[in-house]
Amino acid sequence: MSCCFNFDKELENLAKQAEENCTESFARIDHTARCNSEKVLKAFIDNRVGEMHLKGTTGYGYGDDGRDKLDAVFAQILGAEDALVRHNFVNGTHAISTALFGVLRPGDLMLSLTGRPYDTLNDVIFGEYGGSLTEFGVKYDQIDLLPDGRVNFGKINELARSCKVAYIQRSRGYSLRPSITVSEISEMVDSVKSVNPEAIIIVDNCYGELVERVEPCDVGADLIVGSLIKNLGGGIAETGGYIAGKKELIELCAYRLTTVGTGKEVGCSLNMNRSMFMGLFHAPETVKNAVKTATFASALFRQLGFTAYPNHNEYRTDIITAIKLGSKENLIAFCEGIQSGSPIDSFVTPEPWDMPGYDSQVIMAAGAFTMGASIELSADAPLREPYAVWLQGGLTYDTGRTGIMLAAQRMLDKGLIKI
Ligand SMILES: *Cc1c(COP(=O)(O)O)cnc(C)c1O
Repeated sequence: MSCCFNFDKELENLAKQAEENCTESFARIDHTARCNSEKVLKAFIDNRVGEMHLKGTTGYGYGDDGRDKLDAVFAQILGAEDALVRHNFVNGTHAISTALFGVLRPGDLMLSLTGRPYDTLNDVIFGEYGGSLTEFGVKYDQIDLLPDGRVNFGKINELARSCKVAYIQRSRGYSLRPSITVSEISEMVDSVKSVNPEAIIIVDNCYGELVERVEPCDVGADLIVGSLIKNLGGGIAETGGYIAGKKELIELCAYRLTTVGTGKEVGCSLNMNRSMFMGLFHAPETVKNAVKTATFASALFRQLGFTAYPNHNEYRTDIITAIKLGSKENLIAFCEGIQSGSPIDSFVTPEPWDMPGYDSQVIMAAGAFTMGASIELSADAPLREPYAVWLQGGLTYDTGRTGIMLAAQRMLDKGLIKI
């Protein structure tokens, strides 16, 4: 029973049962976190991270050993030859855009293997102005996922022969398709390379890092990209992103981020090294808590009669849970409950708004230490069919669990569900 919150007795019982149903999944999640924590610790030790590497630099940032060390530690953890980890990637989209512009040239073909990429990449790829990939003469094609959300391998064999970049989005984004496991990514890599050994495989790795025991580079991906206000920032990094992969490709990405010729040699770290190292150190634990929170949410809302993607007992490759709540009222109540359980801005009431780039209103709940950080408990929902909410994060499992309970309680208080 909760010590401080007045949850409905029946809801408490359901939650207890839901948690029991998670026993096997939780054991698996603990085991993964144990392995990944060791992997992270070993990378710090192998790379001889020292106190001096936590200090920052100013100006050009020549000889910034902390920055270079951080790149090396990230690379080892991610199974990559090299990495570009920078606080001045403004978000995940910026890091992905940098990777695409880094390696693609006019006339090249970018082939997405997982359907339309994440919404924020629309302008980057298809924009009619402003220097998009399309404007620079990069061609684009995509292979849609099959109706059941699986990868269309037949089409890969046919279309991948002529592509320069084969692009994979690991996490579901704002869709109900299954996220793509590293083992499936491995099959896709093999499939592409069998018909086109020169193809560069780029994986949008957002939300996937450290959820499994292997990462896409371990199975042959050439570049992987993500945000530091998601998994690998461990809830501590204040901003930033990373690209990891083949050494010569990382160099090209660095040329795009800074300038051709200077690449990784410049870019001062200011005072960000310490929080980026510390966030990375905490990341396996933070990701574990987020995955447990997501798993509990799936189990509880299943008990309450809703469908969750993925189910509590399914193997996970990212920290996202989508729950089909079926109505606008449910979405609003759910998000209000999540917001009310946030450490920051718990007193704020989220409201649906017309978010740029969406054709329907969106409601978002986020009360985070770092603005917009979705490794912290947060939920967003476009107010349209199938009235699903996308839930992620949870810095600690106990507070994440409480947030989920408050969401259910709010729906109960409003008479939207019965137990
Ligand atoms: C978060 C995310 C991104 C990048 O989004 P930003 O808000 O720019 O960090 C890209 N792809 C997927 C699948 C994501 O979840």
